Order: sequence, then structure tokens, then C-alpha cells
Amino acid sequence: MNKSISNVDAHSVMFITPRPELVMVEGKGSWLTDNNGKRYLDFLQGWAVNCLGHCNPGMIAALNAQAKKLINPSPAFYNEPMIHLSNLLTENSCFDKVFFANSGAEANEGALKLARKWGQLNKSGAFEIITFDHSFHGRTLATMSASGKPGWDTMFAPQVPGFPKADLNDLESVKKLVTDKTVAVMLEPVQGEGGVIPVTKEFMQSLRQFTKENNILLIVDEVQAGCGRTGTLFAYQHYGIEPDIMTLGKGIGGGVPLAALMATEAVACFVPGDQGGTYNGNPLTTAVGISVIEQLLAPGFLESVRTKGQLLSEELLSISQEFHLEGERGEGLLRALMLSKDIGPNLVELARDRNPEGLLINSPRPNLLRFMPALNVSEDEIRQMCNILRDLLKQVI
Ligand SMILES: *Cc1c(COP(=O)(O)O)cnc(C)c1O
Repeated sequence: MNKSISNVDAHSVMFITPRPELVMVEGKGSWLTDNNGKRYLDFLQGWAVNCLGHCNPGMIAALNAQAKKLINPSPAFYNEPMIHLSNLLTENSCFDKVFFANSGAEANEGALKLARKWGQLNKSGAFEIITFDHSFHGRTLATMSASGKPGWDTMFAPQVPGFPKADLNDLESVKKLVTDKTVAVMLEPVQGEGGVIPVTKEFMQSLRQFTKENNILLIVDEVQAGCGRTGTLFAYQHYGIEPDIMTLGKGIGGGVPLAALMATEAVACFVPGDQGGTYNGNPLTTAVGISVIEQLLAPGFLESVRTKGQLLSEELLSISQEFHLEGERGEGLLRALMLSKDIGPNLVELARDRNPEGLLINSPRPNLLRFMPALNVSEDEIRQMCNILRDLLKQVI
């Protein structure tokens, strides 16, 4: 039981971030187990990736069946799961066309390219894409340039040009940046890494109206907020608007590397040679995507996400009152608890290291905690998480 963990020898794994001396070996639903047999209640789920929890039976069945049938015929051919999943996504959204990618960053790169292409064809080469302070769109050079994370403008200088930054929920700040070179505005309906900051209905609607009037595309990055996370299949559906382009990642694969770039018919203007990728639309990951989306669309599922989001919200609010914190915010099962001090990173460590069972949460900013459990988390698990949090706060505050 108490096997030493200091014998984790990971010297050949490239260092990119400090990791605890643990090796995760198994997962089921909302629970992860490490190499010492310790269990963790997982409210991270691989950064909102495992929308159906660890090792979901439907996903496993889809993966197994497809692995026996066809893994990769090459992206030069259609395959059955690619077509089926494209249809599922277009039938349940305002978009007409889908390109599958392998990561959120890659889907966003595709969105940026598609917008620039559209600008070449329709707007005399307009290429500037207005993005927002504190936004996060990925870790390729262009998506880092599009992101509004402090410090990222100089990290791998020079940046890819053409991404002026506006302030979220402030239409005037967008208008000020518009020139005849502006081709699109891109935003997350809920800024995830920025600290779970939802776009207001008023801003989204006025932004849609403004972009339409000015022949500017609206791109929503739903890599984190899409696929049921906020309680509707897609987050833009809360706003009564229709964007021109949307990207999906994380939840769409439920844990396998799958992402998607979606566009309306009028905007899907790639010609041969513009876009591609060795693994795009491969049947192995798209077969899993079908299982994920079908489970999200099952009767009552999204409603249950909204109910559980409401429960988590109420619980966090009562914790906030008990400990005199600064409230909570979010949409559906993407929520944050605002702390009164910079105790987030400390709480994350205490939660993970507690015994006998750990809790996995995250602190994208030191003064808040973020929660992104599996969408099929139980109400009991939500209450259990909140009670652990109360114990930890008693120690820290
Ligand atoms: C995680 C994330 C990305 C990047 O996705 P990767 O799969 O890590 O490349 C892009 N946009 C948003 C909003 C995200 O949360």
C-alpha cells in the first residue's frame, strides 16, 4: 500500500511542466487511480476532455468495434464514421460543413486559415482577426498569437501578425479595432483558461449584429465550452445567434484526439491544396465521436447537465457564503469559485494530496478554482466534492 513513489523514473519524458510524483494507471467514471492504489475524485477530467468520464463503456465499444474493422484508409478517401459524424454535427447545429482535426489548436488554425481565405475571395485580402484579452486558442504559433494570455506576445517572438485584441463584453473596444483589413472576430463563449468568464447575451447578440452589418465573420471557439459542457449541445445556442465558423475539441472525442472545424456553406471556401492532415477524419476517432455525440443527444442528457450545473452552482455559492468568498460563475458544468485570496494553487495541491481519497481540481488563476467534471457526474459526487472543499477551506482560511 505505502509503496514509495519516489521511484517514479521519468527522466526520459521531456520536461514541460512540473508534475507530481504519481503515475495514473486507471480510470472509471469520475474516479482516477494512481500507481499506489490511491483514488481521486476527478473534477478536471483531462481539462474538460472526458465529457463522459473515464473509460465510458459506449466509447470503448465504439473504439473496439472500429479498431477491428478499419483504422485508417487515408484521408484521401471517405470513410463511414467520418460521414456519419459530420451529418450528426451539421443536423444538430447551424453549420453545413465539417473538417475533422486532431486537437483544438489544429481546428483553430483551420478556422484562421478559412477566414483568411474567405477574406481573399470576398474582401480584397482582408486578414485581420480580432480576438480578446485573456482568451486562449491553443499552442501553435498562430493560435498563441490569437490568444490574449499575458506574456504570450513575446514568448516565441515574432508573433504571427493580424490579431488585434479587444476587451470581452465591450462592443466599443471591438469597433475601435475594425479596419478595412478586418475579416473576422473570434471568441470563446465562455473564456475557460481566462478564468471561466461567460460572454454576456447582450454582447454576443450585438457583436453578431455588428459583424453581419460590416461583412465580418464571427468565429466561436467552442473547444472547451462546446459539446454539452454548458448545458446545450453547443454554447452559441444559449445566445440565439448563428456564428459563421465554430471549432470543437476536447469533449467531442471524450478523451481521444478529435477536433472539428465547422462552417456555413457560404464560408466553406477551401479548394484542393488549402487544408488537410494525415489523420483528419480517421475512422478510429470519428467512431468514438459518434458515440460521444449520440450519448449527449440521448433524451434527458443535456437537461441533466443543466440540473447538475445548477446544483454545483448552488453548492459553490453556499460555500462562498460560509467562507466569505467572492461568489461563483460559469455556465452548466464549467464553473469557477472566486476565492478572496491567491490560495488556489495551495488548495489544488492539498486536494490532490489529501487521504485516503484525493480530489482533482484546477486553478487557472491563483484567486479562483475551476470545476469541469464529467457531464455524467452524479449529484452525490458533486456534494462529495463540495464537502471535501469545505474541509480544505477550513484548513487554509
Ligand atoms: C484547450 C483549448 C484549446 C486548445 O486545444 P488543444 O486540443 O489543447 O490544442 C483551444 N481553445 C480553447 C478554448 C481551449 O480550451
